[in-house]
Amino acid sequence: MSSRWDEISPLSDRTGRQHSYLRVSVTDRCNQRCTYCMPKQGVPAKSHDEILRFEETLQLVELFVELGVRRVRITGGEPLVRRGAMEFISALGKLSQLEEISLTTNGTLLAARAQALADSGLHRVNVSLDSLRPDRYERITRGGDLADAIAGVQAARAAGLTPVKLNTVVLPDLQPDEAREIILWCNAAPRDFIPRFIECMPFQDIAAAGTALTDLQKALQRQFALVPDEQVSGDGPAQYWRVAETGLRVGFIAPLTQHFCARCNRLRLTSDGRLVTCLGHRDGISLRDLLRGGASRDELVNAIRRTILDKPRGHACAMDNDELFPNSMSEMGG
Ligand code: SAM
Ligand code: SF4
Repeated sequence: MSSRWDEISPLSDRTGRQHSYLRVSVTDRCNQRCTYCMPKQGVPAKSHDEILRFEETLQLVELFVELGVRRVRITGGEPLVRRGAMEFISALGKLSQLEEISLTTNGTLLAARAQALADSGLHRVNVSLDSLRPDRYERITRGGDLADAIAGVQAARAAGLTPVKLNTVVLPDLQPDEAREIILWCNAAPRDFIPRFIECMPFQDIAAAGTALTDLQKALQRQFALVPDEQVSGDGPAQYWRVAETGLRVGFIAPLTQHFCARCNRLRLTSDGRLVTCLGHRDGISLRDLLRGGASRDELVNAIRRTILDKPRGHACAMDNDELFPNSMSEMGG
């Protein structure tokens, strides 16, 4: 490799984007079938051999951390359905250079695990909560029990996994009064919760239409005094506001109407060991195959660096076109 290679920061792409944030999907399986994420029948589960063993995942995460990754989010599928997930998080907790370990979960299995997760070194959780109405929650998740998710959220709060971000995917039938209910519910503990509303991304093979946040955001602005909160807008995709009376932060994430590709700092490691740099493309090198094929550390590092260097500029999906995202979130590690 030329000396020019040595001058490029290891986690940089051709446009200069730096990637210090890694999402690690530990399973493609899930105990729910959310309408916007999976087809009704679910997705064909990958075989045991296809999925990375936790020792392999840890080895790869260690390499990423050596290269400069400082934040890791565990996701899936539903990460808490995978046996050994707690031990894995505990092992991550020992990587001293990692500044943040977080988890994205549907929360239904969290109540019994939140304290142990916090004790293992987990810092924060994001919980998917698409409705506070039991019947609608059940319909969206195709059978989920809202009470389980709420118990998970409360346990996470009690265990100090805060602020708990509550992610609501905005589906075409989400009414502003339902979003308002979520904000009012969170207002009771404004320091511990951050509700976030997310545009639904249209994926191939999943019958969910893209949604725009604009109308919902305007309706909420009429109901609450929302003031922009620059402080936490940071380098993530969410735009944050604060409810003036309580200080509650409210996030809006708009991948379709406000592309944030130009400042995307994410990398994804899928449960079968592919490194994916953009949700909008089917790229991705199999680090699993390299690892199992006996690749040296340098070969792995070079493969990672080349994949990141070639990260696509962005995705092409928008409200005014019919482009679809090629892989579902459960497959890519949402
Ligand atoms: N099972 C966990 C959960 O539901 O939080 C983790 C995996 S899930 C794939 C991660 C995130 O992806 C969730 O917040 C979910 O709402 C989001 N997601 C899935 N499909 C989506 C879609 N079509 N548009 C926007 N967000 C989506
Ligand atoms: Fe499962 Fe999460 Fe996808 Fe819902 S969003 S089906 S809980 S992976």
